[in-house]
Amino acid sequence: MIIDKVRIFDGTAMLGPGAVEFADGVITRVLTEPAAASDAPAPASASASASASAEVIDGTGLTLLPGLIDAHTHVFGAESNLELALAFGVTTELDMFMGPPELTQALCTAAGERADLADMRSSGLVASAPGGHPGHAMPLLPTVAGPDEADAFVAARQAEGAHFIKIIVDDGANHGMSLPALDRATVTALADAAHRRGLLTVAHVSAGWSARLALDSGVDMLTHLPLEAALDDAFVSRTADGKRVAIPTLAMLEASAPETPSRSRTGRALADDPRVVGYLPDHARTAIAEGHEGLCVEKESSEHHFTHALASVARLHRAGVPVLAGTDTNYRPDRACPVVHGASLHTELALLVEAGLTPAEALTAATSAPAAHFGLSDRGLIAPGRRADLVLVEGDPTQDITHTRSIEAIWRGGVRFDREAYRERTASGTGGTRA
Ligand SMILES: [Zn+2]
Repeated sequence: MIIDKVRIFDGTAMLGPGAVEFADGVITRVLTEPAAASDAPAPASASASASASAEVIDGTGLTLLPGLIDAHTHVFGAESNLELALAFGVTTELDMFMGPPELTQALCTAAGERADLADMRSSGLVASAPGGHPGHAMPLLPTVAGPDEADAFVAARQAEGAHFIKIIVDDGANHGMSLPALDRATVTALADAAHRRGLLTVAHVSAGWSARLALDSGVDMLTHLPLEAALDDAFVSRTADGKRVAIPTLAMLEASAPETPSRSRTGRALADDPRVVGYLPDHARTAIAEGHEGLCVEKESSEHHFTHALASVARLHRAGVPVLAGTDTNYRPDRACPVVHGASLHTELALLVEAGLTPAEALTAATSAPAAHFGLSDRGLIAPGRRADLVLVEGDPTQDITHTRSIEAIWRGGVRFDREAYRERTASGTGGTRA
């Protein structure tokens, strides 16, 4: 397969126009015009006509992107969520809490093999304090009572196939509760144990105090951002100096924060976007249009503002902290959540641009950056040898980030996803509802 005369965003920058060829699931050639080629010696022509036997798509007016990676999702064991993700160009999801372990392993295996689902990696079960969030509602969830239980906890998750370790630092205050939380010594022991075993750590942080605790404990990545205040300069520069990574989950924070008259929700606009609605199950569209995520029950709390999260992203980005696109989608067929798999990554991209990233930087945050920071060295770039996870869109999303919604074609591992068949199943009310 050759996509010719197409703008190429390779995961870091706009190349091209040029041609991309792939075969057997792998990108084999990337040809760009001599004027646009930066390093490699340019071929005499961007025309791919030499490969006469391959099928050729005319990419005039279109842009080819690496498959999108959502760096914070919740799949909940539902294949339908991975199918919904793929229908919006998300070819890989990084799941941040799923169980039981046998189900997580089975779904990761299926997602690795099936071309009709987004691929996935998962943390499996999360580390949290006894009686804390989220274990207070899940009595069977293993917890970590102190530093001396950290290594056994990490070893058990590794044995279950966890791809990284997720650590919850949350006292339940956003839910109007007061719950025990992991302390600094325990989080430090978890991070140390994970690093000894070659695993990355991701900390769920609920507020400023928990973000500081995670940073002080040596956790690699922080996910979510405080809503009660923007991160201050001292915190941001320590995060940059410590080579940490942020996964802000703006899509979820926007849906969770109290709504203000001065700013309408970017995520809600998906429900009216003709490029999006036809591919959404009815219950997802309704959830987007009406829904409010229950992260913050104290809606009247005057200091909780989504604009604080936007300001924090701007500061982190300016300081050089890698920011990854992650939605924290909690959607599942039996639980309406306005942050929907796949579609909401396009909201996250728009919110990252609102926070101050350029559209190209936002696209990097959803392609090469998560691949690099999560060790997914086979994807995230349009380059020879990488997986043919590709999204073809109309227009130029480095000029207008919402052009990522104008999807013409999606390939996962070189196999084209039948988006029209998905739309027909979805429109008939049978798509996206199977678990
Ligand atoms: Zn989450």
